[in-house]
Amino acid sequence: MKALVAVKRVVDYNVKVRVKADGSDVDIENVKMSMNPFDEIAVEEAVRLKEAGKVSEIVAVSLGGKKSEDTLRTALAMGADRALHIETDEKLEPLTVAKLLKAVADKEQPHILLLGKQAIDDDAGQTAQMLAALMNAAQGMFASKVELTEQEAVVTREIDGGLETVALTLPAVIGVDLRLNEPRFVKLPNIMAAKKKTLEKTSPADLGVAVVSHLNVVRVAEPKARQTGVKVANAAELVDKLKNEAKVI
Ligand code: AMP
Repeated sequence: MKALVAVKRVVDYNVKVRVKADGSDVDIENVKMSMNPFDEIAVEEAVRLKEAGKVSEIVAVSLGGKKSEDTLRTALAMGADRALHIETDEKLEPLTVAKLLKAVADKEQPHILLLGKQAIDDDAGQTAQMLAALMNAAQGMFASKVELTEQEAVVTREIDGGLETVALTLPAVIGVDLRLNEPRFVKLPNIMAAKKKTLEKTSPADLGVAVVSHLNVVRVAEPKARQTGVKVANAAELVDKLKNEAKVI
């Protein structure tokens, strides 16, 4: 069984991003970049399924500029077998990413496609669902448990108010959530070994997908600074403050 895992290079989650002075975008020059944390969980899950003998090959895919190679090398060091880099410097929207991943899926014919539930840079949370729709495949979003049989992926998903378990006919698209697993720490020998693994390059044009933009960012602004909170001694003081200071009751 083949697993395809989509890994995006994003600003590291520890970095506090700043807005550019002209308000056109966030400034990501010279900031630390890493694999999207949810994609790390997706790679980890694929590797665990391989270790359990359920998956035989893991292909990691990344779309983006030259540096996305680093993200793919990380995926290879974690245990992916080979990597595919769809290289482009154009800004990619979720629909374009989904179309490109669909083109890869048409070629690779994976049984499961593992994606993060969202990329922490655009916070779109759309790509996995769009990919499933384009492939006319089953989707299991917000996965906190994945079990594979020959015909199905049984996914436990986090929904409002609890957990839902769905059985997906393969091929299936799975969007992974935080509680699915804890990604492993990548050891140096694995990083060295990853350098010898295959990293193939392609482009949107090679895959027959036009990179079209449907969104126009009008302005990017810092969120309003929040006032520091205060501790109240008791409920009576809280009610008094809500009435007389915040004037909300
Ligand atoms: P989004 O819909 O942008 O929040 O992204 C959801 C998921 O789609 C991510 O966690 C990745 O698994 C995948 N994805 C989005 N953009 C890319 C990209 N440029 N390269 C690889 N995977 C991506």
